[in-house]
Amino acid sequence: MSTRTPTIGGNWKMNLHKAEAIELAAALAAKADDFAGVEVTVFPAFPYLIPVADALAPAGGKIKLGAQDAYITPNGAFTGEVSLSMIQDAGASVLLVGHSERRHVIGETDILVNDKVLAGLEAGLDVVLAIGETLEQRESGKTDAINTGQLGYGLAGVTAEQMKRITIAYEPVWAIGTGKTATPEDAQKAHSVIRQAVAFLYDQGIADAVRIQYGGSMKPGNAGDLLAQTDIDGGLIGGAALKPDDFAGIIAAA
Ligand code: PEP
Repeated sequence: MSTRTPTIGGNWKMNLHKAEAIELAAALAAKADDFAGVEVTVFPAFPYLIPVADALAPAGGKIKLGAQDAYITPNGAFTGEVSLSMIQDAGASVLLVGHSERRHVIGETDILVNDKVLAGLEAGLDVVLAIGETLEQRESGKTDAINTGQLGYGLAGVTAEQMKRITIAYEPVWAIGTGKTATPEDAQKAHSVIRQAVAFLYDQGIADAVRIQYGGSMKPGNAGDLLAQTDIDGGLIGGAALKPDDFAGIIAAA
């Protein structure tokens, strides 16, 4: 039995305007006593970090606030970007880096992902590093190579001490927002390979301690089987995180 605390994240992506974001955060805050033993984080869109932080306040820190992205350099001439100190000022303690939509839609490279991981850690944030293969890569037998490659690039320069503040999110790209979920066995196999790669990069103790979340159409109905796998330590949830009962149902399965 793993001693790793399960971690469930709600990635709200570019969804929910202010009133809806506050309503969802308040609904989750009201359920926070049910989340004991599970680390819960929500990632609203930038403009709503502050009102969501306020709406989560009654939960007394039981629900963490995360940012979906941030830029790597201190404040300055970077039009359109949001700095690490700004997201911290808004109440965020967690930074999501390397989500497939940022890699494949926005075009972030492994180098920028690594820069963001290092900058986020340096700023004192916890960092969720998302990795995962596309359907084409899976069908051509490259799943493990892609995952271990993105892992190695993403973690380059991260110290053993900093690994305590890293969570890895394995998100097969073909499963994100598609309703297609990796089978628990396939997901477990990928997670196991990722954990072995962490042992190779660091040591077995760090590999045993690091949390690896699964992401890709996780819902209350499939969460239990996925989360029962030895190396699956939680979930990063998109669509189902927008409904308080579905998100709470996944947390209950963790
Ligand atoms: C995600 O955006 O990280 C995700 C897993 O989305 P969904 O749950 O909608 O597949």
